[in-house]
Amino acid sequence: MRFSTQLIHNASTIDSATGAASPPIHHASTFHQSPYSDKPQTFVYSRSKNPTRSILEETIAELEGGIAGFAFGSGMAAIAAVFTLFSSGDHLIVTRDLYGGTQQILKQLGERYGLKVTYVDMTDLQQVTAHIGSRTRAIYVETPSNPTLTITDLRAVSSIAKSHNLLTIADDTFMTPYLQRPLELGFDIVVHSATKFLAGHSDVIAGLAIVKSPDLKTQLEQVQVTWGGILGPDDSWLTLRGIKTLGVRMDRAQQNALQLAAYLDNHPRVSHVYYPGLSHHPGHALQQEQARGPGAVLSFELPPALTVHEFVSRLRYAIFAVSLGGVETIVSHPASMSHAKMTSDARQAIGVTDQLLRVSVGIEAIEDLIEDFEQALNH
Ligand SMILES: *Cc1c(COP(=O)(O)O)cnc(C)c1O
Repeated sequence: MRFSTQLIHNASTIDSATGAASPPIHHASTFHQSPYSDKPQTFVYSRSKNPTRSILEETIAELEGGIAGFAFGSGMAAIAAVFTLFSSGDHLIVTRDLYGGTQQILKQLGERYGLKVTYVDMTDLQQVTAHIGSRTRAIYVETPSNPTLTITDLRAVSSIAKSHNLLTIADDTFMTPYLQRPLELGFDIVVHSATKFLAGHSDVIAGLAIVKSPDLKTQLEQVQVTWGGILGPDDSWLTLRGIKTLGVRMDRAQQNALQLAAYLDNHPRVSHVYYPGLSHHPGHALQQEQARGPGAVLSFELPPALTVHEFVSRLRYAIFAVSLGGVETIVSHPASMSHAKMTSDARQAIGVTDQLLRVSVGIEAIEDLIEDFEQALNH
């Protein structure tokens, strides 16, 4: 079965009890236990297992090529659950331009629970190797990274990790399994903010974690049921519905992003466009090799003569907001949004200037998007 077919024909396709073509939303918190049966029951209490959530968990495990998936109340809850696998004194090596929320968790885990973290430029594999010590337990990667879209070699990181017996974790939010499957490239754990492209309609907050080994499955099962940050049945259903159209949405959004990136790249007043789909992007070839496409997120430097306020207030279609991966185009300002908690110097060091805008390209008609950017840039 090809991946596009798998998006439609998976654990969610037909309800085994009724034949319904859309999975039922099971609100039950508890399930009747047959008093005289010694068979273990699949469903006992919805914090440990809920039928609607289970369908989502099976579906994402299948799509990522893992053996088990876990659905949480947000991307951050999924990421936090994965970090509970580590102990005080353990050391992690992490992508430098990491999602802001993940940096905040790591800061708290460092200050209060003694987890050690080193941020590295993950595109420089020598830096990765140089920081591995006796307490290093894992390498945590985001590729493409946010917001400058640097590309990390997933196979190479996995092979470095294997030779030092380290776990590898990838946040695959920007790509989704439609474009990139880190478990197939040797990674152990994948995490997602399903809020973004997977659910795809800016109408749900959800997180997922997928693992490849029975040992990690057992560990995360315990974390999910005891810490309890589970995804509810309605949001599980919305995420499942989003996944069915992931392929067509991604194809269209990516096609639009390629055209918008080319337009901005040729614009005389735009000095820099960050997008792995452009041939001058340093990670262009690597991205082509390890993923099925460059995705639908790009960043660019607004011309110095134009303020962010002037530009975004002239845009007619794109909304100005945090988040990404919706059907609508979303323009964000990393310096005042996702990276606001960093110092100005730390932001400059990773290329997050005050004029940098990130665009999550939606599925509108590209002619309208380009016309809109044109009038806002040239006003
Ligand atoms: C949004 C996002 C998260 C956090 O997910 P939530 O669903 O907002 O909790 C984590 N990683 C990346 C890359 C994100 O874009």
